Parts: sequence; structure tokens; C-alpha cells
Amino acid sequence: MVHEWALADALARYIIHRIGDEKKSIRRIIVRLGVLQSIDKEILGFALREILESMGYSVANIDFEDEEPVLRCRKCGHEWKPDMSVFDDTVREAIHFVPETIFSYYKCPVCGSRDFDIVKGRGVDVTLIEVE
Ligand SMILES: [Zn+2]
Repeated sequence: MVHEWALADALARYIIHRIGDEKKSIRRIIVRLGVLQSIDKEILGFALREILESMGYSVANIDFEDEEPVLRCRKCGHEWKPDMSVFDDTVREAIHFVPETIFSYYKCPVCGSRDFDIVKGRGVDVTLIEVE
């Protein structure tokens, strides 16, 4: 909960920095969120709207995009996209709330090592800001 508000605050500052304070009517914002982030999109969207509106901006649409995870083996350097669809909801939820859980479910498809880095899937990015 606190996490989402802190993140929304940072995003709001970034968005205002990008568009300046002349045009205050925002048509659309797209935020890309890593699927391994433990962030509640609904709360984040609500918080972002509240913060922007409290600063005098109006926001028509806030949309979210998923950033799919990419893993890189520390042993052989192989990069791959783990297939999250093979898991049931319980596992996906565990990974969502504690991204480190992913280490117990995957190993490098080339060398079998469980020593890998999460290259993508934890990022937060504003990919689009449309003003009127
Ligand atoms: Zn490997």
C-alpha cells in the first residue's frame, strides 16, 4: 500500500517534469510494470490519479503494460524468457509477491545452473504520456 503511493508520487513527479505545467489535461498515460514487481496496479493507478489531480492535472486514462521477465545465467551468459504460463496461480502469486521465489522454479535451459540474474521483469517505466 505504502509502496504503491511512494511509487505513484515518483511517477507523478516524472510525468510533470516531462510535460511541464502549461498543459494540465492528460489524455493518456501508459505505465509499463515488470510482472515480477509486487505492485497492485489498481492502487497504483488510483494513487497516481489522486496525486496528479491534487497538483491540478486532469487524467483521462491510465493504462498498464506488462514487462515480461528475462533471466540471464551467471555461469554461461545465456539469456532466456521464462514461461510463466506453466505455473498455476499459487506459484505465479508467490513469484509476484516475492520475486526471489523465481530462483526455486527455474534453471538455465543451457547449462542447468540456478545461478542467474533477473535482467527484466522488475522495472517501472512510463512509456507514453499524451496531453490534450
Ligand atoms: Zn547457463
